[in-house]
Amino acid sequence: MLITENDVIPILKDLIKLKTENPPGLTIDAIKYLEKELEECGISSEIQEYSEGKANLIAEYGNGERSIILTGHLDTVPAGDENKWKFPPFGSIEDDGKIYGRGSTDMKGAVAAFIAVMKYLKENNVKISKKIIFLGTSDEEIGMDGAVVAKESGIMENCDFVIIGEPTELQIAIAEKGTLWIKVEVEGQSAHGSTPHLGINAIDTAAKIIPLMKTAVPDFEHKILGKSTLNIGKIEGGTLINVVPEYCEFKCDYRVVAEDLRGQIKEKIEEIVKFVNEKGEAKVSTEIMHEIQAISSIFSFI
Ligand SMILES: [Zn+2]
Repeated sequence: MLITENDVIPILKDLIKLKTENPPGLTIDAIKYLEKELEECGISSEIQEYSEGKANLIAEYGNGERSIILTGHLDTVPAGDENKWKFPPFGSIEDDGKIYGRGSTDMKGAVAAFIAVMKYLKENNVKISKKIIFLGTSDEEIGMDGAVVAKESGIMENCDFVIIGEPTELQIAIAEKGTLWIKVEVEGQSAHGSTPHLGINAIDTAAKIIPLMKTAVPDFEHKILGKSTLNIGKIEGGTLINVVPEYCEFKCDYRVVAEDLRGQIKEKIEEIVKFVNEKGEAKVSTEIMHEIQAISSIFSFI
């Protein structure tokens, strides 16, 4: 007997119906659903609710000293305008061999498959030398806080492999870019729009800094991940068309392909900030919003 679609699809359909869009990233209903699903076959779970409505689920099978972790996140990106969907995003509609819904691919499909694996192992009392741990996480789409909580609780001790069910077109992926998110704030001086020379235009200064931020992207090329990147995904500033803006901020999303590159980017940004501030016009400051290290497996079998 093998695991079949019939073991996976009902779980997937149920998971899609449980809204876990992030923000706000409330996953507790999906986590409790998985807890119940595992409990029915005799696997008990630990729920780590690290913030109200946001939780991880950890379930184990086997007694091996070393472990293999099967992991997936339960939160999804938002569905956006539901009217633009071919089928309702939380309807779990099956059509022409596909299941439509927010998170069906990223990554409730993989979570459903992992749960089916756990149930199969338990129901068939499969003998296995390593302990198999299922880890369902929250907040992957924003900050990865759930994974951090799980790691800090010691789940990685004695772990030999982590299998992450992220969609990769069924290719094995052994590396992932790291993240460095930086907020840049520019403080100028307000004045009337008819006399801009009496103020300091924060938007003008931000526009000058943006090309400089691009020069902070390192040139190094990773053999799998390629080159590091920058996306400036948000900018805000000003109040009215006829007022010199006293404030502007923008957010830089650097994705780095090797662990030592974050330091290089930070150094370069410090230089840029110093250079702009020494001009004595607008005042520039930066804040690191979030950072995650780049990872790549020690194995190079692809
Ligand atoms: Zn994902």
